[in-house]
Amino acid sequence: MNRAQVREDMPSDSSLHEKIAAYLEFQEELGVEGFYRRRAGSVPRTRTRSPRDSRPLSAGAVEGSVAQSLSLFEASAPKRGPETLDEIRTDLGDCQRCKLAAGRKHIVFGQGSPKAQLVFVGEGPGADEDEQGLPFVGRAGQLLNRMIQLVGMKREEVYICNVVKCRPPGNRPPEKDEVDACSPFLFRQIEAIRPKLVCCLGAPAMRTVLGITEGISKVRGQFRDYGVAKAFVTFHPAYILRNPRDEKILREDFESIRRFLSK
Ligand code: URA
Repeated sequence: MNRAQVREDMPSDSSLHEKIAAYLEFQEELGVEGFYRRRAGSVPRTRTRSPRDSRPLSAGAVEGSVAQSLSLFEASAPKRGPETLDEIRTDLGDCQRCKLAAGRKHIVFGQGSPKAQLVFVGEGPGADEDEQGLPFVGRAGQLLNRMIQLVGMKREEVYICNVVKCRPPGNRPPEKDEVDACSPFLFRQIEAIRPKLVCCLGAPAMRTVLGITEGISKVRGQFRDYGVAKAFVTFHPAYILRNPRDEKILREDFESIRRFLSK
């Protein structure tokens, strides 16, 4: 008996038909090719059957056994809907998808609220982040924390992650093959969180998130469309540490973020 025969042969209840068809599809995915059926005689639905009994099942028995199994199938069927951050982390596993894996101490997946309205995307972990397995915990992270507080938020309320999850040697910018391997996980994280705003910290984050090659000075301070959300571009805190006169610009940008989120 296959899915088509279920629709032709089985009685009345169309929602039961749909469930049985879905169940058979599930069985096919598991490699179960079909169910045998015998027209004559019937086995009572309640009768239990030895696992060693290889005789074919009657139609009634098939219906009974399928109906019984449906409740198990429904309980175990994967839930549809967006992935969770934990599922994405599990999928990332002990990632060896690019050459950065060889030099890392820890994968720096991301940190913060899974329901954040604001996601920060940096470039990649530095030495402190690699050591601790957490994003933005070094000097650049302390500046980021100050900016977050300046606009009345707490670090735990936002989500912080990077374009690549493993430290590039000598803190060089991530290379294209590394970004290509890692960025699908970043996009899945953003999709899982569904924030109102994605803030790109620096040019590599801007290029990856927005897919643009314009210079950062041209784009910084602007809100761009990013699906149903917006993306915003500002300087990387590490740049500000090297160019403290531009901290004023960073503060202005964080003020723009505050205004946007309070709308
Ligand atoms: N710089 C980044 O881009 N990311 C970090 O996590 C830390 C420093």
